[in-house]
Amino acid sequence: MGVIEIKDLVKKYDDNIAVDNINLSIEEGEIYGILGPNGAGKSTTISIVCSLLRPSSGEVKILGEDIKRNSLKIKKFLGLVPQSIAVYSDFTAYENVKFFGELYGLRGNKLKESIEKSLEFTGLLEVKNKKAKEFSGGMLRRLNIACAIIHNPKILIMDEPTVGIDPQSRNHIMQSVKELNKQGVTIVYTTHYMEEAEALCSKIAIIDKGKIIVEGSKEELKDMVSDKRTLNIGLDDIYKMNIEALRNIEGVLDINIDENNLIITSSKDVNNLDKIIKVVSEQNVKITDLGFKEITLETVFLSLTGKN
Ligand code: ADP
Repeated sequence: MGVIEIKDLVKKYDDNIAVDNINLSIEEGEIYGILGPNGAGKSTTISIVCSLLRPSSGEVKILGEDIKRNSLKIKKFLGLVPQSIAVYSDFTAYENVKFFGELYGLRGNKLKESIEKSLEFTGLLEVKNKKAKEFSGGMLRRLNIACAIIHNPKILIMDEPTVGIDPQSRNHIMQSVKELNKQGVTIVYTTHYMEEAEALCSKIAIIDKGKIIVEGSKEELKDMVSDKRTLNIGLDDIYKMNIEALRNIEGVLDINIDENNLIITSSKDVNNLDKIIKVVSEQNVKITDLGFKEITLETVFLSLTGKN
């Protein structure tokens, strides 16, 4: 049994179904990625798992305990890094982490040691006496993490922890996630950045419009689209291109536009390259780039949802 078990989870806001019958099992020791565009239902799912929001229906078990019955006991094992920064701006970094440590019942030497360890781990020990309001966006994100790991949780849930920060802090956070995982912490990591999920996660669920579209290891997800290939054609003026003419070519499954590139998903079994190039070159556009896209999570997502 997984350390987190989500069964038939539904959350409705009036007519809007934010979470639409999600089932997930997250095993101990994973870095589990929940990947999906904005509005997919990631935060809503996370908030329910952390008992911050009640589901409309369904069940969540953490370490075998139903969150409805045992939320206090579960909170000891769970750390949450919320998407919005949850620290006090007039407190120093030290005082913020201390506040959270006390909430979890840490006292005396144990508290002191845990504060130092959390601040050191997030690279904030040297600025521990600075007030949070003097921190950059990246430092605030790291302080958010320091507060979430003060009680040494077995499971750490991180909701889009790298949104809107500088690359250096982003790298720092991603390294910290790997390091915590090495120390035995199970991580649930939501993101809308494909590259992050690809670089970090051992398992991934792709969600869209409240539903899980696919779930598996990176290799399993990539295998799902191995019967397709994705051709990228760069054009000087994509809006002069009549895209409909391409849709009728045998083997063409889907066509998307990304800036000045036509992205054509095609069946691997049909050799239609000459036809595609012919149709494009008959139009009033110049080809500026041409190549196959490597199979990445992005191509998987594109091929399964039809959107970038
Ligand atoms: P994500 O985290 O993947 O960006 P969310 O879980 O925040 O997605 O949102 C999922 C859907 O639920 C969206 O359509 C969003 O507009 C809606 N939603 C989220 N919170 C509320 C709320 N408090 N009231 C009404 N609708 C909400």
